[in-house]
Amino acid sequence: MPGKKIERRPVSKDEIERRGGFRLADCYQCGKCSAGCPMTDYMDLLPHQIVRFCQLDSPELIEKALRSRTIWLCVSCETCSARCPKDFDIAHLMDTLREIALERDLTHPDADNIAAFHSVFMWSVEKTGRLNEFPLAVGYKLRSMDFFTDVMRFPKMVLNRKIHFLPTRIKGVKAIKEIFRKCRELENNEGRS
Ligand code: SF4
Ligand code: SF4
Repeated sequence: MPGKKIERRPVSKDEIERRGGFRLADCYQCGKCSAGCPMTDYMDLLPHQIVRFCQLDSPELIEKALRSRTIWLCVSCETCSARCPKDFDIAHLMDTLREIALERDLTHPDADNIAAFHSVFMWSVEKTGRLNEFPLAVGYKLRSMDFFTDVMRFPKMVLNRKIHFLPTRIKGVKAIKEIFRKCRELENNEGRS
């Protein structure tokens, strides 16, 4: 943002804990969060690795976490937090890291592509109530014009049944659409006030 002062101090474990209101040491690295996360195929670090990098309190590792694609691909579904046997709120850690990354201007070099992915993801959720992998992949490739990255993973994902060609809808899709409509209405009202 033009004129906005960027904080240059390295980010410490203490700062992350203070801002998030959690204790990073509560995580004992069992990996259950990563095993349940629906976005790991697209992430560059697994959710439990993000926690580990923050726990180690090394400015370089924390910066890696802050510059990762992972924190921007996290869709705040809270599956990780619900699965955690230590009640560590990893979804909230992701929020906290996104806030800090924006303040320190430490975004991932693929920020534009991540925005393309995010908008196709939200489109899929609004139209069908769920993530439909095939339309998501096609929509992302068209928007980002990035046709070749990860293309070799496609056959393996099909074999592992990670990709379903026909989109499916949940029963309550009308309610989901209504939530999106209300959110847009609120955003528009905020923009006017
Ligand atoms: S599930 Fe909880 S304890 Fe296990 S690695 Fe993830 S955050 Fe840590
Ligand atoms: S909240 Fe984010 S990190 Fe956690 S399971 Fe959902 S997408 Fe993965």
